Parts: sequence; C-alpha cells; structure tokens
Amino acid sequence: MCNKDDFDVIIIGAGPAGLSAARTAARSGCKTLLFETLAQAGDLGHPCSGVIAPLPGFVSGQRRQDGLHFPEIELSIPWSLVVGSISCQRYISPGGVSFQATFPARDNFPIAVIDKSGVLRLMAEQAVAAGAELRFGTSVTHVTSQDGGVTGVRTRQGEFAAKVVISAEGVSRQFTEEAGLYDTVTSGKSYAFIVSEILDAPAVTCSDVGQISTLGRRYTSVSTPSFGTLVLPAKGRAQVYFSVFADQPHIHTDESLWHYLQEYKQRDARISSLLEGATAIHRAGTRMALRPVPRHVVKDGFIGVGDSVGPGGHVGILPSIFLGQKAAQTAVQAVRSGDVSQKGLANYERLYRGPLSRGLDFEYRIITGLADMSDDELDRVCQTLSRINLAPFSFGQWQPIAAETVKWIVTGLPLILRDRKLLRRMLSGKPAV
Ligand SMILES: Cc1cc2nc3c(=O)[nH]c(=O)nc-3n(C[C@H](O)[C@H](O)[C@H](O)COP(=O)(O)OP(=O)(O)OC[C@H]3O[C@@H](n4cnc5c(N)ncnc54)[C@H](O)[C@@H]3O)c2cc1C
Repeated sequence: MCNKDDFDVIIIGAGPAGLSAARTAARSGCKTLLFETLAQAGDLGHPCSGVIAPLPGFVSGQRRQDGLHFPEIELSIPWSLVVGSISCQRYISPGGVSFQATFPARDNFPIAVIDKSGVLRLMAEQAVAAGAELRFGTSVTHVTSQDGGVTGVRTRQGEFAAKVVISAEGVSRQFTEEAGLYDTVTSGKSYAFIVSEILDAPAVTCSDVGQISTLGRRYTSVSTPSFGTLVLPAKGRAQVYFSVFADQPHIHTDESLWHYLQEYKQRDARISSLLEGATAIHRAGTRMALRPVPRHVVKDGFIGVGDSVGPGGHVGILPSIFLGQKAAQTAVQAVRSGDVSQKGLANYERLYRGPLSRGLDFEYRIITGLADMSDDELDRVCQTLSRINLAPFSFGQWQPIAAETVKWIVTGLPLILRDRKLLRRMLSGKPAV
C-alpha cells in the first residue's frame, strides 16, 4: 500500500482529456501518473471521425504553413496528421429533404479531419517529456476513498494514492459513478451502440467532401431510434457510422449491429451511390452509457473530465483537451494550496458549468431529439429547417449581424411557429428510447 502523498495527480485514461491533463500537471511540476487500459498511446477506445474546429470563446485556431495551431491548448498539429477538411454538415430527412450548416473557410478558423491516433501519440510524447509517468495496458479497477473523499486508485498492480484523481475514463463512467458524482441524478441510464467502418471509397469526389447525417428508420430493420452518419474527409475516403439507441445494455448483439450497418450502406438511397465500389479498411464498435450531466463534476480529491461526465460521448476532441488542461490546472492549484476538497476544486466546476457545457448539452439534445422522431415528423422538421437560412448561425459565426437576424425572423418565424411543438421536442432532447 502506498503512502497518501505518493502522487500529486493520478489520471485514469489516455484519451484527449487524460493526456491533456497529464501533460499540463507534469509541466507544472506535479508528480503525475496516468493509467490506460489500452496497450499503447494512440490506440482508440472507440471509433471517432476526427473532425475538429476551434471553440469560439475558448480555443482559437490558426492554419499556417506547417500545420494547424490551437494556442490556448498548446496544440500544434503538423500537416502529416491532417487527413482532410470539411466545409459543411448536411442533415437529410427520410424523404430526402435536407438542410445544412456551412463552415467558414478561414485561416483563423480551421475545420479539419485529423488522424486522432497520431495526435494522441504526439500528446503522450509531450506528457512523458514533461515528466509524467504513463502506464499503458493497465486498467484501474476502482477508486479508493476515505470519509467520502477520493484518495487514489486500485489496479491489479496494487493501490496508488494521490492528492487528486482525475477521471478521464470516457463513456464508461464507472469511476465518476463510484466517486458519487451521479448520486443526485434520478433518471436512469440509456445506451448508444455505434458501429463504424473506414472505407476506400472511389466514388467520393472532392465536391462530396463534408459530413452527412441521415435521419429516420425507413431504410434499415432497426425498430428503436437510430441514425447514420457519413463523413467524407477527402476524395476517395469515407467513414460510415450507424448509431442505435436503447434502454437496455445488452439487447443488441454485435452481429445485428453489423447487419444494420450493412443494410444502411447498401439500402439507404441517400448515401449508397457515394459508397459504390467502396471497401472497408477498418472496423470498430462501441457501447456508450448515456446519462445527463451530473450536478457536480468535482468531489473531495476527484475531478471528472471529458466524456466521463459529458453528455453522451459528444464532448469532442478539442473541448476534451481544453477541459483536461483546465482540470489539471485546478488540481495543481489545489495541491499547492493544500486544499483538495470539493471547495478547493471549485474553479473547474465553475468553468464547466458555463457556456461550454451548455453548448455541448444543446448539441447532444438536438441529436437525441431528432433520433426520437418518426420518419414523417423528421420530413416535416427538415422541410421547415431547409427553408430557413441557417448560414448566419453556422459553426463559428455565433453572432449573426443585425440585418441577417431581421431577415431570418421574417422568413423563419412563421415556419417556426407552425412547427413549434416538433422543434421544441427536437431541442428538449427527449430521451431517445
Ligand atoms: C462514433 C464517434 C465519432 C466521434 N467523432 C468525433 C469527431 O469527429 N470530432 C470530435 O471532436 N469528437 C468526436 N467524437 C467524440 C470524441 O471522440 C470524444 O468526445 C473524446 O474522445 C472524449 O475524450 P475523453 O478523453 O474524455 O475520452 P476517451 O477518448 O474515450 O478516452 C478515455 C480513455 O480511458 C480509457 N479507460 C477507460 N476505462 C479505463 C480504466 N478502467 N482504466 C484505464 N483506462 C481506462 C479508455 O481506454 C480510453 O482510452 C466521436 C465519438 C464517437 C463515439
């Protein structure tokens, strides 16, 4: 058994949030240890499209000659780790009606598809160079606690004590639950099952590059809420995802999920022509536990970051890096001041409660709200949204100019009033089960 002061900070998980926390804590001179179940840096716990964009108000971005730079999170991504870029996200209803958000093509607002594994390897090297100890192939089995406060972690190699434990475990949420962050959350868990393939796709041309979300159930045999996404990061390349929501952790066998993915690729007329002649080069699947964001993300000696407390696996790569950095900065301050209680860690709680988590939650509610609608309802919502000019509200342009707003109200308001019940359901994120 270790002495309580063995480590200043222990981090669970080497995803974007965990590596960012490890890098930041070690750079500040803290004795830092990270555990990761997977065998090596860059291995992924779940499929991911790798689409990144700056976070207005938190993380700015620059496209330069040597790559992409995100100064607030001290991240520089060389061009060798950039797979492509996308300029729009299109949503298509079951009947083929679409609306889209167009992303601005600006050097000071780069939107790109990255090699997530490569970026994680880069961050792991930086964390080690700063003095952090990273133990891959080692799962944390429990958090240890005393008098209601977290005191360390347990692994098969023994117990390890720390002043602050940062859980960056992702969507499993085992340790954020063990630490008691969800004690005051009354609604239960639901689950999302996601299967995905990366494909060589000869039919994808430069003009197809973008992200397509197909809504509704008409094209597959899935009976519960579901939706598909096709990311086209570059000519000749596609990533396809099929998500199924359920209230039971085990109702879908792997086999049926892969069957749904094949049905989606072959039968869904909205995407099948883009996948003609495509061959899969990589397959992955995951199950996510979905819960509302807990009221508190810190406890005595403990901070939950990234997807471990975020809404449904959608926090994202850059937001998770940002949150991991802020969690570690808060932990370092608390360790230095000698107060690692919930109060001593309150700076992180305040940051998380702000516009950032509200924005993430909003996006997630729209996705689950849409997944819960019938095909006819989706056709109607998409018809309304397709007739409203969404451009001023597109990613990265949060403050539409006055004239655009007036035009938008005049053209959009009557349609919004007509479909207000459906739109309210879309925005409320009624549990997608
Ligand atoms: C299908 C899909 C597509 C996505 N596409 C995008 C996208 O295009 N752009 C984007 O920005 N985001 C995307 N995301 C979301 C993004 O991947 C996550 O929000 C982000 O990875 C969260 O980072 P994290 O560090 O919190 O968790 P994770 O990246 O999940 O990392 C958690 C790590 O903890 C480890 N771990 C878990 N339990 C233990 C344990 N007991 N002991 C030790 N280690 C443990 C896991 O192995 C894992 O490596 C996508 C997600 C999914 C599911």
